[in-house]
Amino acid sequence: MEAANAKRLQNQVAIVTGASSGIGQGIAIRLGQHGANVVVNYHSDDEGAQATKDQIEAAGGKALVIKADVSKEEEVEAMFQTALDTFGTLDILVNNAGIQKDAALVDMTLDQWNKVIGTNLTGPFLCARAASKIFLKQGIRKEVSRAAGKIIFISSVHDIIPWAGHVNYATSKGGVAMMMKTMAQELAPQGIRVNSISPGAIKTDINKEDWSSREGEEKMLSQIPYGRIGEPDDIARVAAWLASDEADYVAGATIYVDGGMTLFPSFAE
Ligand code: NAP
Repeated sequence: MEAANAKRLQNQVAIVTGASSGIGQGIAIRLGQHGANVVVNYHSDDEGAQATKDQIEAAGGKALVIKADVSKEEEVEAMFQTALDTFGTLDILVNNAGIQKDAALVDMTLDQWNKVIGTNLTGPFLCARAASKIFLKQGIRKEVSRAAGKIIFISSVHDIIPWAGHVNYATSKGGVAMMMKTMAQELAPQGIRVNSISPGAIKTDINKEDWSSREGEEKMLSQIPYGRIGEPDDIARVAAWLASDEADYVAGATIYVDGGMTLFPSFAE
């Protein structure tokens, strides 16, 4: 990963959920490179979270690892309190943690539905609520940012593209799209910028089964006009920009970072 060219987030504090692997790991490292103190949230992958912390610290940043299930209210509240006790402030929340539990509609269990909705939809709600309370109390920290706080959702192209065989996941991301817009409208008057990034196909553990075979990779590539599958840092660079004052007039926006995938009218599994 190339070094960040400017420390746009110096002395800011960020919480990145699901930062033990994939896109969240990439974002946490990129924010750290830009000077932010980063809370590395995760759910089960101790080694992955530690690796994220190590890379942030190797780049000269500060990181704090916090294990918390974003779908559990008490764990989310405790995480935000620990972050505040450690770093004193909060400036950025990246709602990234997400899972898939795929099944055809007729086979989908209530547990598969509830787990995905809990992590992908309730989790971002709980985290955004906790972050907003802190941002509103804190007000604008003029020395570090023009905004009173920044919330970035990591949604998906499936917030607008249906996805047969993944009704729990697509529904969660459709919900994230409207949650983002509603929160953006509610919080913009208080100086809080809320936006989302909707990735296309990015090489991570969540879709490893799809891109690790030659056939799967070719199928994915056939849906991407730009001709390559994305990497976590493709998303991380946009997240770092959105979190910075360079995006100071961006509120309520969804940025599709997908190599042009959404240019196709539709596709099925
Ligand atoms: P990933 O590599 O599987 O990472 C998922 C992360 O979420 C892990 O750090 C995982 O932590 C964490 N997580 C899962 N459940 C959690 C919970 N209950 N509480 C806290 N953390 C939890 O997948 P990814 O591709 O980077 O996905 C990140 C986000 O991007 C997701 O919201 C996903 O929907 C979205 N996205 C991905 C793609 C893609 O092509 N990869 C495309 C569109 C959108 P542990 O491993 O520690 O459990």
